[in-house]
Amino acid sequence: MTVGQVDGVTSARRGRRIGVFGGTFDPPHIGHLVAAIDAHQVLGLDVVLLVVANAPWQKLGERSISPAADRLAMVEAAVAGRLGLEVSDVEIRRGGLSYTADTLTALLAEEPDAELFVILGNDAAAGFATWERHEEVAEMATLVVVDRPGTPTPIDDGFSWIRIDIPELEISSTELRQRVVDGRSVEYLTPPGVVAYLRERDLYS
Ligand code: ATP
Ligand code: MG
Repeated sequence: MTVGQVDGVTSARRGRRIGVFGGTFDPPHIGHLVAAIDAHQVLGLDVVLLVVANAPWQKLGERSISPAADRLAMVEAAVAGRLGLEVSDVEIRRGGLSYTADTLTALLAEEPDAELFVILGNDAAAGFATWERHEEVAEMATLVVVDRPGTPTPIDDGFSWIRIDIPELEISSTELRQRVVDGRSVEYLTPPGVVAYLRERDLYS
């Protein structure tokens, strides 16, 4: 693990250490879950929040996205009973486009002493500079990147990053959706509760 600079603001805080792992989670899979538990453990976090995007601005118009309620229910099923991982519906409750800057502001309004860590796959991290108010995000939280398999994407070194090593799992929600279309099983790529939910709701087929 390489540790970046932790700015004075975050290091001075004494509250809970909270990981913020945002995503569309359409559907969630073991790649997300292993990243979340490793961040939890390696960084000694009190909790990792899997924040389900309401309307992910990066994906608008690309394809139809499952209803937020279904994505939320699948993430709930995925982390059920796993201490340290929690689902957050803050972006869904807020409605509209999902910006991490707003989410962090809301978390800090509730817990001003919290120390926040934003967890990102390297594909998401590569686009960080295009995020709405990304400088604010970098001020409010420590940025944590996990690698996904494939060509390493250069990450904006204008910001300091913590990188944690996780097993690189070549898996994406896109692949799970395609497997359902193709009539192939998604078992073991996502927890049983998620498999059951997407079958019951007939998602992606
Ligand atoms: P899609 O294929 O629909 O884009 P996805 O698998 O990339 O789905 P997202 O919901 O887009 O999942 O990603 C949420 C976050 O999880 C992002 O930061 C992304 O980089 C990270 N992530 C997704 N899959 C993995 C994986 N296999 N390993 C590590 N991080 C991952
Ligand atoms: Mg993605």
